Amino acid sequence: MILLKNCFYLQTSSEAEGLRDVDVLIIDNKVAKIGKALSLPHGKEGRIIDASKHVVVPGFINTHHHYYQTLTRNLPAVQDAELFQWLVHLYEIWKYVDEEAVYNSSRLAMGELLKTGCTTSTDHHYLYPNSFQGDLMGLQFQAAEELGMRFSPTRGSMSLSKKDGGLPPDSVVQTEDEIMRDSERVIHQYHDPSDMAMRKIVLAPCSPFSVTEDLMRESARLARRHGVLLHTHLAETRDENAFCERQYGRRPLKVMEDCEFLGQDVFFAHGIHFNDDEMKILQETGTHIAHCPSSNMRLGSGICRVREMIDMDINVGIAVDGSASNDTSDMLGEIRNALLLQRVTKGAKALTTREAYKMASENGAKLLNFKKVGRLEEGWAADMALFDVHKLEYAGSLSDPLAALIFSGYNHGTDYTIVNGRIAVEKGNLIGMDEDEVRDKANAISARMLEASNGR
Ligand SMILES: [Zn+2]
Repeated sequence: MILLKNCFYLQTSSEAEGLRDVDVLIIDNKVAKIGKALSLPHGKEGRIIDASKHVVVPGFINTHHHYYQTLTRNLPAVQDAELFQWLVHLYEIWKYVDEEAVYNSSRLAMGELLKTGCTTSTDHHYLYPNSFQGDLMGLQFQAAEELGMRFSPTRGSMSLSKKDGGLPPDSVVQTEDEIMRDSERVIHQYHDPSDMAMRKIVLAPCSPFSVTEDLMRESARLARRHGVLLHTHLAETRDENAFCERQYGRRPLKVMEDCEFLGQDVFFAHGIHFNDDEMKILQETGTHIAHCPSSNMRLGSGICRVREMIDMDINVGIAVDGSASNDTSDMLGEIRNALLLQRVTKGAKALTTREAYKMASENGAKLLNFKKVGRLEEGWAADMALFDVHKLEYAGSLSDPLAALIFSGYNHGTDYTIVNGRIAVEKGNLIGMDEDEVRDKANAISARMLEASNGR
């Protein structure tokens, strides 16, 4: 049981104005009560947190990531590369991803996410080197459980290697039989369909340029048989359009349509290069978009038509994307970039701070099919981030404390992050891991992978 006392500013629903000087009582994994002068129920033990300096927001939902890429961020060789060239270079390093790399990169990425206000995340791991033996997703769930994060990883896949006209090397792709078998296994083993599940599964063939149409279609059918979601990268770059027209004789969205890969149970990462007709198809089918502004800027991929999508009621969430193209899992920073990037071409009214928050909370929860997650209301999940705004960098900005987090400040760390009614970050530090240990491990694994690829 946790009682937040005297919240300086509490954002309940993302669209309404926030509440001032209120208390929040958390019982088990839910918000039990929001109101003035609350106390712990008589005779009950609980934790009391003074929130009088804090902006309290619904925990952010990260809708796309590649945790393993935290080990290869900021590599000089691809700092200035565009997507295809970037991928081809990095695959030669990523093929050395092993069990230790998966577990520790998951701890690292989720640690950063939690520390910047994110309480629910997905991950898209599509790289299965031939030498990898263990239960990859099991390692990720172990890390999520230790850190206390709500986690809905995608079972990624690649079946089209260089010899078949794809981009990845042969050693990191799997046969379609292996992929389908393991996809079914992880659904049976880990998927929890309940509203506030801590574990959900998504199926996610990597992209139109790394799997066959057959695998896309079979993944869609398998997902629907089991009621799990579908995900892939789509319309990220102009190169991808050219690849699809050359390989399939169709644009990417048409390929997906022909693979039964559209609908309310589908979300695409990026979704930049859609034409007007394709936008209408997204609207009609209820397909969602995971918008990755930092990655899109970093790789020079383009600007997602977020404003138009929102106006068309296409659901758009926010995502930090993989750490080799961002190169951080700073979730609050990503919300800031989403807002600023829309304004570059569409003017200062293109996106408001409230819309940006809604994308990062409610929309993300809807995209990942979590019910009663993404808003701070009685009966909803106790997932929240507490940012201390009584600091030098926020001085002078408190006429609108919520917007202050986006427009002001330079340290995006929370003071507290609470997930499913449990404290995951306390006084800016992770509860579920030794940060120094994970930092040193990640640096050592990163160096080892680079060495292995240089010596090949
Ligand atoms: Zn991605």
